[in-house]
Amino acid sequence: MSGITHDYMEEYLRGLIGDSEDELYELEKYAGENSVPIVQKEAGKFLEFMVSMKKPKKILELGTAIGYSAILMSKAANGNASITSIERDENMVSIAESNISKYNFSDKIKVVKGDCLEILEGLDDKFDLIFMDAGKGHYNHFLPHCLRLLAEDGIIISDNVLFRGMVASNDLVIRRKITIVKRMRKYLEEISKDKNLITTIIPMGDGIAVTKRR
Ligand code: SAM
Repeated sequence: MSGITHDYMEEYLRGLIGDSEDELYELEKYAGENSVPIVQKEAGKFLEFMVSMKKPKKILELGTAIGYSAILMSKAANGNASITSIERDENMVSIAESNISKYNFSDKIKVVKGDCLEILEGLDDKFDLIFMDAGKGHYNHFLPHCLRLLAEDGIIISDNVLFRGMVASNDLVIRRKITIVKRMRKYLEEISKDKNLITTIIPMGDGIAVTKRR
């Protein structure tokens, strides 16, 4: 049990999704072998679906890691989106940049090195889709910036919002994760109770929230 879904359900859904091909397969293999956290398979499929439905022209990603989800989104947009992705870990930035160049996405994906909060403060573009996947204990701090940077009809997709079930149940909380859990609960309350926003929280993967303006 992941704390969110049953193993049999996860296995079944992953079986339906099947294996990735080409660069995504290679990146998944690298991530698995090197313990790099990338979006879970169901979350990846959800992201692909949302990008192909929403057809965003500009995407902002918080948390690049090796560039897997950025490349997945670029492919889902058929190359019609420009993606800005923020990553603070220098090693990850250089791996992501080399993957982006190796698989020919350099004209579509730009990696910005730095802490999300600092980089967000300096941005003033408008984005059609924002994918929040970094600094699980800071989503509530990123939110005001993301709302400021969100295009009128844009959407924010945030991953890991149920954090292995800990966000929903105190029985699952590990002591050293208590701050992340408290802040994630605050984030979910803010996006759920703000009358100007509409949010749906999906107990899929590690929990995904989708938010837009009303
Ligand atoms: N989105 C990626 C994917 O699915 O391929 C995975 C991102 S991984 C879950 C989170 C990444 O965010 C890590 O590489 C970590 O170094 C980075 N990160 C964490 N906190 C950050 C922060 N405050 N600012 C910038 N990057 C951060």
